[in-house]
Amino acid sequence: MTAPYKAAALEPEAASPLILALPKGRILEECGPLLERAGIVPSPDYADESTRHMRFATNHPDLDVIRVRAFDVATFVAFGAAQIGICGSDVLMEFDYPEVYAPLDLGIAKCRVSVAEPAATAGSDDPSRWSRVRVATKYPNIARRHFADRGVQAEIVNLSGAMELAPGLGICRLIVDLVASGSTLRANNLVETAKIADVSSRLIVNRTALKTQPEAVGALIARFRAALAGG
Ligand code: ADP
Ligand code: MG
Repeated sequence: MTAPYKAAALEPEAASPLILALPKGRILEECGPLLERAGIVPSPDYADESTRHMRFATNHPDLDVIRVRAFDVATFVAFGAAQIGICGSDVLMEFDYPEVYAPLDLGIAKCRVSVAEPAATAGSDDPSRWSRVRVATKYPNIARRHFADRGVQAEIVNLSGAMELAPGLGICRLIVDLVASGSTLRANNLVETAKIADVSSRLIVNRTALKTQPEAVGALIARFRAALAGG
């Protein structure tokens, strides 16, 4: 099925739909009911994990959805590839893009960014007396800032998953990672020793898009605001 061809060359502004960037994985599942209440219905293959498509039409001819890695949602929105998106506040904290404006806390995918270390060494020594510490994380900026504020220089080991293994295998003293129930930490003999920040998912928009297309982008923000109020 092909969409009817639009006269894009004649009227580029009017003819290009807005793009909503959504993350694969956990947030995608949790934001389903919210999208529904916002009256946004992506084409059926959007929910099919096995599809190779990454861009989907919706019930609104002027809105398409793209499905990308959670970490990449903020990047697509910051560079204006998508005008609007949903991503975790952990990702916003890590990248701190000035082009990204986060008008709404969606209250979903709640967890926290924390420091964790092996139960065996936790509390054995006062972190404020360290000069440096080796930390495995996928949040190098959050981790560096957290320790710098305490006068400790963090040496970062960049991992994108399974950081819980790293201290036990001797490559770092600590990890900085997301914690929800704490069961992954417990299963790997780690304990949470400090909470850096609470995390939830946010609606984000590109500031320039909001300025240049205030009606269209503003109407989408209003849809999400109404969906939150009604939920
Ligand atoms: P990826 O595996 O691509 O890093 P995830 O689906 O694990 O993506 O995480 C994406 C986002 O979901 C995170 O940035 C965070 O905001 C949120 N999140 C991750 N883990 C949890 C959790 N255990 N509980 C609630 N939200 C979480
Ligand atoms: Mg994950």
